[in-house]
Amino acid sequence: MGAEQTRARAEAATVAPAGPAPDASVPEMSPFEAVSHFFDLAAEHVDLSEEMRHVLRGTYRELRVQVPIRMDDGRLEVFTGYRVQHNGARGPYKGGIRYHPDADLDEVRALAALMTWKTAVVDIPYGGAKGGVQCDPLRMSEGERQRLTRRFTQMISYVLGVNRDVPAPDVNTDAQTMAWMMDAYSSRYGYTPAIVTGKPVELGGSYGRDAATGRGVVYTLGEAAKDLGVSLEGARVAIQGFGNVGSWTARLIGELGCRVVAVSDVRGGIIREDGLDVQAVYDHVRETRSVVDASGTEPVSNEDLLELDVDVLIPAALDRVITADNADRVKARLVVEAANHPVTPSADAILQSKGVPVIPDILANAGGVTVSYFEWAQNIQQYRWEEDQVNAELRKVMSKAWRNVHSRATVDGVPLRLAAFAIAVEKVARAAQLRGYV
Ligand code: NAD
Repeated sequence: MGAEQTRARAEAATVAPAGPAPDASVPEMSPFEAVSHFFDLAAEHVDLSEEMRHVLRGTYRELRVQVPIRMDDGRLEVFTGYRVQHNGARGPYKGGIRYHPDADLDEVRALAALMTWKTAVVDIPYGGAKGGVQCDPLRMSEGERQRLTRRFTQMISYVLGVNRDVPAPDVNTDAQTMAWMMDAYSSRYGYTPAIVTGKPVELGGSYGRDAATGRGVVYTLGEAAKDLGVSLEGARVAIQGFGNVGSWTARLIGELGCRVVAVSDVRGGIIREDGLDVQAVYDHVRETRSVVDASGTEPVSNEDLLELDVDVLIPAALDRVITADNADRVKARLVVEAANHPVTPSADAILQSKGVPVIPDILANAGGVTVSYFEWAQNIQQYRWEEDQVNAELRKVMSKAWRNVHSRATVDGVPLRLAAFAIAVEKVARAAQLRGYV
């Protein structure tokens, strides 16, 4: 390719990475179908052999367990839990545990596959896994959640291991949940802090892990904005979700000069055109458990938040919130997928045709698993890093991953998601081949 052509492609990608003709007619898919669709596009792009496609598309192991719990009122309730290990060619299986009424096998499978591609994009030595328990933790007491966590951990413990499979927090689970998991595992196998990451610091958790996913989103956005020609000084940002990822992203994004104008949670959203006082909103959430009615703000629905006229839209709650139904009304100049799979394949095609770049989940939210890797490494070495070191190493990993994805998108003339998947698929395929899987 001549220099002129290279420059033209780079410029095109800067505005909106070009790629295969967008097909907005692709029907909405289940989460695992959607991740498989993105995988198939990448497999085609890198010309992966049929045999390798067969191995990498499916999951290695899927465990479904019955989790009976005595509730506070004396009733026995029987929950269903899952641990899915997608691919372990590059290292131990790694991925969070989600407590949610929609956490079914298809969703957990999809999230496990995303972990395989995510750990490969940021080049940390893990495979991909995910776990979930179908339950409504918001209606459970702390005692019920603790009993559920301990029983679930016991049930899946024989597929876990420091060098086999290492869980972490995800939706509706947190450092306390990881402490219970570690304790349940350790009571059977001996003291094993490295069996989970995202633990409380007092139990061997890493400084900076709680903030890591949001911090990684901010680092990635900072790098991406320069290359995509988006000015962040005074940029208006809307964030859906104000849990671990959303609230940390909101609290840190001011470092880039952005103003957060709207945030939301499961109960609704709030907006302030001049910019929210994010720390005040955070304090309000600690008192009331919701962003709703924070002082000096107006209400906005979760649906309307996604369609606000902002520079940057950051879905940081659940999956499949931007679909064929609303993608056309998204007005943001840039979408950053802090949540996993917030944009369906058909919405992805629509955003692409509108020239809106999407920084894909497997890159944008990889800061969490990256610092989980640092935590695991610290536990194994029985040595603790200072927070500055954690954050500096995280920045290095995220910046490098962004540069790799952006340059692949530019050189191949494809969207950022396809570039990220292509890099990941090549890496995992190479490891699988070297290990003799295929
Ligand atoms: P969390 O449970 O801490 O927070 C979830 C937030 O989403 C809460 O504010 C909740 O009220 C809100 N929410 C739930 N249902 C909603 C709905 N229907 N509409 C609007 N808001 C809703 O979870 P989290 O850990 O912040 O995870 C958020 C997303 O980020 C998930 O997709 C998760 O898989 C992904 N993720 C998390 C991590 C991590 O380290 N925790 C890492 C990578 C990716």
